Amino acid sequence: MTSISRRAFVAQSGSCAAHLALAAAVAPEALRNAWARAALGPVVATEPFGSLEKVADGIWALISTPLGGDRTTLSNGGIIAGRSGVIAIEGFNQPAGAAWLAGKSRELTGRWPTHVVLTHYHADHANGVAGYVDANATTGAPVVRTTDRTRELVLQKNQPADAARAACLEKAVVLSPTDASTIDLGNRRVRIIPRGGHTDSDVSLEIEDPSVVFCGDLVWNAMFPNYVDAVPSRLATSVKALRRDRRTIYVPGHGALAREAEFDRYAAMLGEVEQAARNAHQQGTSAADAGAAFALPASLGEWTLFNKVFFERAFAAWYKEL
Ligand SMILES: [Zn+2]
Repeated sequence: MTSISRRAFVAQSGSCAAHLALAAAVAPEALRNAWARAALGPVVATEPFGSLEKVADGIWALISTPLGGDRTTLSNGGIIAGRSGVIAIEGFNQPAGAAWLAGKSRELTGRWPTHVVLTHYHADHANGVAGYVDANATTGAPVVRTTDRTRELVLQKNQPADAARAACLEKAVVLSPTDASTIDLGNRRVRIIPRGGHTDSDVSLEIEDPSVVFCGDLVWNAMFPNYVDAVPSRLATSVKALRRDRRTIYVPGHGALAREAEFDRYAAMLGEVEQAARNAHQQGTSAADAGAAFALPASLGEWTLFNKVFFERAFAAWYKEL
């Protein structure tokens, strides 16, 4: 990292994927290509910042491909449509990302999103939420749903502050921090389940049939997660709870769509980090030294890691708990 990019990174650390945008400048072509791996479902739209994949009838996932350098979206998100409404998931890094997804919703379902759900406060998932307010809408802006804690953190931490974003959140419907809620889309019910561990407040969106789980940043596929706000034991509990015992498509917060194998590989990777952190802590090794010495076993496959500091950050998060 150059010193300029390091400063930029520190300035953007409220975004759990700031490092992605930064890495784009230096990522080799092979790595960029690996990121945009084969889609699980049919791809219905492709942009420099990501592609929209059909997950099931009425369900699409936006898989962001940030290594191309376009920052319109950095995180994944999606669309869940039913007879009486459409849920858009995530506010994305920029309003243009949310507006793009809303436009796709209209194209694919005939409807602008009626609901928006933010999975957590990080800038790359929340900062563009005002993009859902359609200046030409006849039906009004979608209702934003977020936990009170997520809203509070967006307003406190995400810079630069933005009046349109704040106005959107002021009108939000607050989700219970303890109980699941349901959005009834007519022929489809979507449960929003409060969880945590990636941040103080995360939610997942869960559908029973077909079995689809939008995990937010509780799950990352083939990319080492950012522990900047993590409480790792709580994260592990959330990950365990997300895992279903039947064929399921998991939409991670970052990386390609996951099936059981990818999900389990991620869970095993978290377990590996936990074990290494516990051992190092017991031996009195500093988080910095332990992180610097750490490597994931080859059996866990390839994990994109842009900077060793992410290992240190993971160890530091565990040390806070141990
Ligand atoms: Zn995040």
